[in-house]
Amino acid sequence: MKLSQYFPFFIVLLLFSCKDPNEYRVASDFAEYLNRFETEAAKRGKNFDLENTGLIIEYADLKNDYIGLTHYETPIRIEIDKTYWNEVSTSADVDELRECLIFHELGHGLLNRGHINTILENGDWKSIMSGGTKVENKTWNINYRGVRRDYYIDELFDESTPEPEFSSKTLLADTTGFSGKVYLSFDDEAHAGWNIETTDNYSTSIQNGRLKFESKVDKTFLVFGNTGIDVQSDFSFDLHIESQTTDPSLRYGIIFGYVPKDSTGATDPIEYFTISNDQFMYMGNRSCRTYFSQLYKESIIINGDNWLKVVKIGDMIYYFINGVYEYCSEMVTKESGSTFGFLVPENGTVFLNDFIISQKSASSGVMSKVKQNTKMEFGVKEINQFIPKNTYKYY
Ligand SMILES: [Zn+2]
Repeated sequence: MKLSQYFPFFIVLLLFSCKDPNEYRVASDFAEYLNRFETEAAKRGKNFDLENTGLIIEYADLKNDYIGLTHYETPIRIEIDKTYWNEVSTSADVDELRECLIFHELGHGLLNRGHINTILENGDWKSIMSGGTKVENKTWNINYRGVRRDYYIDELFDESTPEPEFSSKTLLADTTGFSGKVYLSFDDEAHAGWNIETTDNYSTSIQNGRLKFESKVDKTFLVFGNTGIDVQSDFSFDLHIESQTTDPSLRYGIIFGYVPKDSTGATDPIEYFTISNDQFMYMGNRSCRTYFSQLYKESIIINGDNWLKVVKIGDMIYYFINGVYEYCSEMVTKESGSTFGFLVPENGTVFLNDFIISQKSASSGVMSKVKQNTKMEFGVKEINQFIPKNTYKYY
């Protein structure tokens, strides 16, 4: 080939050669997270000298739902999507979300790690290096909090880190010793707890010993009662719930914590545990941008009656589906609240049975069900979108 055919490539090479291979340019918003990464690396005997060897972390306007992108250039250049970075600023777990993103990209850029999409026994991702090609249609959400954060950082620096205790399907906590304090049998209107009524937007009734809540609008309903039991105490909460949804991805389930009277925004600090008829479970807190993890659970009965149960001991919540222990995760809210209830999907109908709140009892571990005859102070809140749809992915 003639030299002229090479000429354009020559120009390109010249342009690249003008770039400083040791350039160090990290936008101030990312400096704190980079410091943490270097601290964690140093703890494990890995020392970087990035100010001399070079690194670029900069804002970008990334396409296709990408929130971070690592370019294997010299030096390594990481782009962080500015829209996402700003969007999570109002989320209660903003610090964890931002750290997780920066650490993932640094995993590519500085630790040379690729994507790994292994799933732990409890359904969580094995690594914060998950990404790329989807597995079992599972979203990329990582429950990067509490005990999990420590594990995920260990795993980031050492891929052979053993599977953590929290991911075991063996229940390691003693969840016995709770006895019923509030019990709604829904046998008849006197044991309904909630008002039996018909409004423009919903109706409630008792049918065959269950409470039926029928939504007439394209909104999600939070329906809750004031039980007088503080979620900051150790408790267990049982509820049977059935919802036959036309769209199997619609979520229904239980809520607990505190629902502010006035706000209807996505920042209400209520904890939730929801399931869907495509057999996924989701858990989280509405003050966080989105759910913590999406877990495929065969224990969910499709379009059937599902017995959901949470047991809170200390900071930890243990989740059960139809008597099977499925997951544990720390509760987000630090506020007192005595609200317990359920979530109805858009235009959905749910049937409820055996709403039971229990607390630790000094006497025996035998559940003493007390039938509740008095109506609770209750509330109904319409939510446009329960939690934002989440389709983001890493690179
Ligand atoms: Zn990636």
